[in-house]
Amino acid sequence: MKKQNFYGFTIEKLKSFLEENNYKGFNADQIFKWVYEKKVTNPEEMTNISKPLRKFISDIFEFENLELVTRQIADDSTQKFLFKLIDEHVIETVLMRYDYGLSLCITSQVGCSMGCTFCASGLITKHRNLNIYELVNQIISVQNIIEEKITHIVVMGTGEPFDNYDNVMDFIRIINYKHGLQIGARHISVSTCGIVPKIYDYAREPIKTNLAISLHASNNELRSRIMKINKVYPLEDLIKAVKDYTEISGRRVTFEYILLKGINDDIKYANELSDLIRGINAYVNLIPYNPVNEFVYKKTDPIKAQKFYKQLEKRGINATLRRELGTDIDAACGQLRLKNN
Ligand code: SF4
Repeated sequence: MKKQNFYGFTIEKLKSFLEENNYKGFNADQIFKWVYEKKVTNPEEMTNISKPLRKFISDIFEFENLELVTRQIADDSTQKFLFKLIDEHVIETVLMRYDYGLSLCITSQVGCSMGCTFCASGLITKHRNLNIYELVNQIISVQNIIEEKITHIVVMGTGEPFDNYDNVMDFIRIINYKHGLQIGARHISVSTCGIVPKIYDYAREPIKTNLAISLHASNNELRSRIMKINKVYPLEDLIKAVKDYTEISGRRVTFEYILLKGINDDIKYANELSDLIRGINAYVNLIPYNPVNEFVYKKTDPIKAQKFYKQLEKRGINATLRRELGTDIDAACGQLRLKNN
């Protein structure tokens, strides 16, 4: 029988699997503690577990990590890891160091079919969804390499997480679990370009993780031009779903807005944006664009970016202007992977 990667099992799935094989469900918690808390993956060392179960674990499970292809470290300490998957596809995972901890940006798909016109990841069409263990293993592999604990997770790398919804939700269950990676729900964020039906589902998930919306435009005409998802789910539907999310979850939402020179960075768009989201429990994260060779888009100059930010503030919108990270290491999402494809 082909071995299964352990990191693809939620606690519920492991319990049922053990019970189906005539072991006790409570053994699942013992195994989780060994693997995630004590980092023991050799079943022989799991001393409070019976010998037959230890043999079962070693016969059934493997604990392989992802294969590291490249690691880049920027001057500001941002790191990019390129990992090879079992079918030879490569994915990238980005580590950012902040005052409050270590944040890892997770890739959710091999390529992306959403086709946002400014995004390096969208240049490679979607091949497949990442499975659960490939999602979890990005954290385990990076932690093993850097020998530090990741404290924050953002599912904002290559791919549209809500196009791989079930696996991403199981991933969250594993990393949030008290005997899993123990990453708090408030330290986990998922970003979508706006798959509206899934926003309604996400609002009703029992684990209340954060939601970020890749907005990037304040009207339908412009948004449809730069993000084709807007033709399927226009702004009025998206904003309605976001309101529903904030009401049901009681959580604040983040609107991501990449400033693109001459495209969406005029003051009139700051005004339009503030009208669009007024009254929503939200804040806007303004992001300087990292130019990608293949695209014509350019970065808004810093003075103009400041003006945009100030205008939002003046109109009562909570906003931050993000510092640039990793500009010397192909920091735009998907750039490193693109080079190695
Ligand atoms: S921005 Fe996100 S959703 Fe859009 S193409 Fe890039 S990876 Fe896909």
